[in-house]
Amino acid sequence: MSSLPILVLNSGSSSIKFSVYEAGDGERTKLFEGAVDGIGTDLGKLWIKDATGKKLVDETPAVPTRAVAFKMVADALHSGDFPIPAAIGHRTVCGGPTITENQRITPELIDEIESYSALAPLHTPIAVFIMREALKLFPGVPNFAVLDTYFHRTLPEVAKQMPIPAEYVAMGVRRYGYHGISYESIIHQLEPNVPEKLIVAHLGNGASISAIRNGKCLDTSMALTPTSGIISGSRTGDIDPGIVIFILKKIAETTPNALEAADKLETVVSKKSGLLGVSELSNDMRDLRDAINAGNAKARLAVDKFTWTIARWIGSYVAELNGLDMLVFTGGIGENDIAARAEICAGLGALGIVVDPTRNNVRGEAVISADNSPVKVRVIPPAEDLIIVNHVVRLLG
Ligand code: ADP
Repeated sequence: MSSLPILVLNSGSSSIKFSVYEAGDGERTKLFEGAVDGIGTDLGKLWIKDATGKKLVDETPAVPTRAVAFKMVADALHSGDFPIPAAIGHRTVCGGPTITENQRITPELIDEIESYSALAPLHTPIAVFIMREALKLFPGVPNFAVLDTYFHRTLPEVAKQMPIPAEYVAMGVRRYGYHGISYESIIHQLEPNVPEKLIVAHLGNGASISAIRNGKCLDTSMALTPTSGIISGSRTGDIDPGIVIFILKKIAETTPNALEAADKLETVVSKKSGLLGVSELSNDMRDLRDAINAGNAKARLAVDKFTWTIARWIGSYVAELNGLDMLVFTGGIGENDIAARAEICAGLGALGIVVDPTRNNVRGEAVISADNSPVKVRVIPPAEDLIIVNHVVRLLG
């Protein structure tokens, strides 16, 4: 295959991130990356920088809507200053129960993914909007959906199945698992020496953890939605369903319309809880560390809750894997929060996890376990865009 420019799109609630790779036979070279930030505001930002970090575009336009934001991306890529993409890969959080394979995007596929929006309500509506815009603004260019759920397709039935009545299972309610592209990228970076028994903790604004045997996902903390699993920036993680019912009934006292009440409940559990809810300060770990240094007890409790939950999850995954060869930290917190890694691992010596404090005093790629630690502990930044490019190249044939 001759070299082709591949565009990777990753859209969030207030930004569209993108990168372009040159992909040839086994060769992957990042050409540039960029983003439109501040969607829905007059204080937007469009930037593009090359692989060395040099800014090629740096503008501060108003970005009233997501459509305007994506048009800015398309216009920049058609300006003549950059190669026009030969194919586009879309990070796609959830394909629902029927779309389990990465594949070429057609209008019918978008409709099918959209029909399961209720399963990932914060992500799917944005993803399908961008897919439709991309088909319009890049006519003739093949688009591919690369799923975060794809890595978790190997989950055993006992992990997938939810203990609820069959009628809801038939509607697609089960464990899907998320952050799958990040997990794939960790496996990719470990190849060809992927340990048999591996735990990867992806700790970012959203946080999840997976037990992986011989490179295949055995269990993962997120279930139907990215709100589940371990506590994260503004999401509860797993909590007693009775708490959700209690909050819903409180909301219903002033919001009798059931759908409106459900929307308010969703805001509570996914945008106002987690580190933000407990600290009453911030969902951002850097703010919480500053507050802890200033003696803020609620910030301390929020971070303790976070590290305590993760340590418990690691313990249960060691049981599921019947041992452990390697623990990997990734994501913004996993890569950068030295104290979080130390706090999570502090009580895990009995599981063979011993972190060396000097080696742990690092941000980014490193082995941080002590020489006498039976379990190797590593920090590996994810390379999600590269994995999306690899899937696109494979699907292009
Ligand atoms: P997302 O899930 O949005 O991709 P990231 O993986 O970028 O998020 O992670 C964001 C989290 O990483 C935030 O909580 C942020 O505070 C944290 N983080 C980033 N840098 C540091 C740092 N130097 N120390 C502690 N936490 C950090």
